[in-house]
Amino acid sequence: MMTSLDCLFLPPGTVLFSEGDAGDHAYLIRSGEIEIVVERDGRELVLARRSANEIIGEMALLDRGTRSASARVVQAAEVVAFTKRQLEQRIADTDPILRMCLGVVIERYRDTLKIVRPNASPPAPPARRVPGQAFDAAVAVLTLEREIEHALARGEFELFLQPIVSMGDRSLAGFEALIRWNHPVRGLVPPSQFIPVAESSGLVVQITTWMLREAARAILILLAEGCSGHKAGKEPLFISVNVSGHDLLLPGFAESVMEILREAKVPPRHFKLEITESMLMKDPVGAGQILDACRNYGMGIAVDDFGTGYSSLSHLSTLPITTLKIDRCFVQAMVADPTSRKIVNTIRLLARELEIPVVAEGIESEAEAAALEAIGCEYGQGYLFGRPMPLRDAIDFLRSASPRQTPPRLVAVA
Ligand code: C2E
Ligand code: CA
Ligand code: CA
Repeated sequence: MMTSLDCLFLPPGTVLFSEGDAGDHAYLIRSGEIEIVVERDGRELVLARRSANEIIGEMALLDRGTRSASARVVQAAEVVAFTKRQLEQRIADTDPILRMCLGVVIERYRDTLKIVRPNASPPAPPARRVPGQAFDAAVAVLTLEREIEHALARGEFELFLQPIVSMGDRSLAGFEALIRWNHPVRGLVPPSQFIPVAESSGLVVQITTWMLREAARAILILLAEGCSGHKAGKEPLFISVNVSGHDLLLPGFAESVMEILREAKVPPRHFKLEITESMLMKDPVGAGQILDACRNYGMGIAVDDFGTGYSSLSHLSTLPITTLKIDRCFVQAMVADPTSRKIVNTIRLLARELEIPVVAEGIESEAEAAALEAIGCEYGQGYLFGRPMPLRDAIDFLRSASPRQTPPRLVAVA
């Protein structure tokens, strides 16, 4: 996971930062030794020494103050840097009480530094360092974040599309946009290996913007193909894009999506936004206002992974939802498990009451498809109909798709 790109190798004597500097970075020390130094009354005083599995320079990042001491390498050191931006999103996500305590602790520590006297001797190293596992996990996460940023800059991501079909005649209704990472070393990386870190760091916002642009470009190409396999008289062919709770918090999110569609000359009715039930229910009122704006522009709104969160029924009826996507776990269990079948049936009845069509996710077998059809599910998505595929294969899929025809065998992805 670690690459030389993410590590700084510092020879003895290197001044990592100086007292009074703006604090832009903190550092995880992988090896070597770094001392923390202040100058008082013209004399230099070593306050502490930090070595492997410790952090240095975090204070200025946490309270946005200037450096209250300098850091100088004593023994050749290998460090991993992390930035203010990487930390700020996490602090913003933190419980406010915890955030307040953090502020108080830092303030007190800075006060202590002010009264440090030159004749004091350097304190003994702390008894407890960051436990190895937690330290390695932090290094892995920070490294992955850097890699995601580089991947965005170097164009290593790719849009894949998975068909969504009408259950009745298996005709193509649209596609879900799913991201893939063409990693130069690791090959095709699935989203489960990087989206959670992109979420926690806030980088997901840049990913969403990239996906929205790619999806807008793709739907235009698919529509230009003449929708040959798309049944006339049905809802317009669409692409649905996954968005995160972070995206909805961006000021003017609906307008910026609309801007992307306008630039690409894509009518919004060919576009859907997918948001998971759990993210939606974190702030249904706030999310509702933003999704209302998207809906008013003409985009569709799908609730993803439905059944895994805790939806309040009163909110469901007021949100501008145009599709409910039943989570794969219920679909795949329903053939063997009567409880899952009852859950799917209940969701279907609820959706019918709300006049919202349902997409069943993760359909792999004809038995599952038959059970879902019997319940009256309108749409399906799953390996039975087609795996996620690059745009060029989606174009072939669209060309060959026709009612009651078995979809062609598609490329398998990791
Ligand atoms: P999701 O939004 O629920 O997407 C459906 C996932 O189920 C996809 O996994 C798809 O490949 C998989 N799937 C579809 N049919 C079947 C099936 O028949 N059997 C099985 N076993 N799996 C099936 P994928 O592409 O690995 O994506 C995983 C998750 O990563 C997505 O779940 C979504 O939460 C996230 N994700 C993917 N692309 C993006 C993106 O562009 N932005 C964001 N924010 N999240 C994304
Ligand atoms: Ca989805
Ligand atoms: Ca889903």
